[in-house]
Amino acid sequence: MTETSDLRQVVRIVTGQAASDGAGVQLTRVIGSSALSELDPFLLLDEFGSDDPKAYIAGFPDHPHRGFETVTYMLAGRMRHRDNHGNQGDLGPGSVQWMTAGRGIVHSEMPLQEDGLMRGFQLWVNLPARDKMTSPRYQDIPGDAIPEVVRGNGAKIRVIAGRTEEGAVGPVAGVATEPLYLDIALTPGAEFSEAVPAGHNAFAYVYEGAATIAGKQIVAHQLAVLGPGTRFAALAGAAGAKLLLVAGRPLGEPVARYGPFVMNTRVELEQAFADYQAGKF
Ligand code: FE
Repeated sequence: MTETSDLRQVVRIVTGQAASDGAGVQLTRVIGSSALSELDPFLLLDEFGSDDPKAYIAGFPDHPHRGFETVTYMLAGRMRHRDNHGNQGDLGPGSVQWMTAGRGIVHSEMPLQEDGLMRGFQLWVNLPARDKMTSPRYQDIPGDAIPEVVRGNGAKIRVIAGRTEEGAVGPVAGVATEPLYLDIALTPGAEFSEAVPAGHNAFAYVYEGAATIAGKQIVAHQLAVLGPGTRFAALAGAAGAKLLLVAGRPLGEPVARYGPFVMNTRVELEQAFADYQAGKF
């Protein structure tokens, strides 16, 4: 096999759509919309970003989750997380919360600021059937605990999950889908290349600037669904690029999904509703 054939191609380009969630938070939905309902094991990707408090101040008051993981990555601003089991945590700039909702939590995610920039992402990662009813688990990772790799060619990489070729290992551990989650900042014209596990589904989401990925131009707020291969490569445009590179082992299991419940069958979904209404989360 030649090197080129190992390179992941862009099989689809998806443009994020304006959406509103929680108590009226304005966001860009990239996965989980009609354009791309899921990319196994990823169920949702939202980008939120505004310096207008009206766009975020209402936050995400109490709501349930069951059957998957929510991953919040803050670029700027502060959020407070609080759940019905007494867990509480503050997310600051550069921090990540990897929450395994498992059998269920009810939580709120509210801004800890009344003005200024609030910016970040929420990714939903599915759990395999055997783990859907596991105990809830939190990995709260402050910004300074995320390794930063600086390469000589103008690439800066924050390693949230997985391992880079230099051997930098992200702090998120014990996730069934063995994710790779990198935040990559490229100076104008910089080239970036990194191994991506064969067999993982993968995407690149450009959130600033533009990049050429396998010959395709991807601009800000566009997601490139990557085809099979073992390597990812990108070339930053004239204004540089900031992008997320995310990969995970596909589960290949049926998805029965409604709002904040993601199970394998309709019966399990109905049970999730019943348990939530009975206060069993
Ligand atoms: Fe939530």
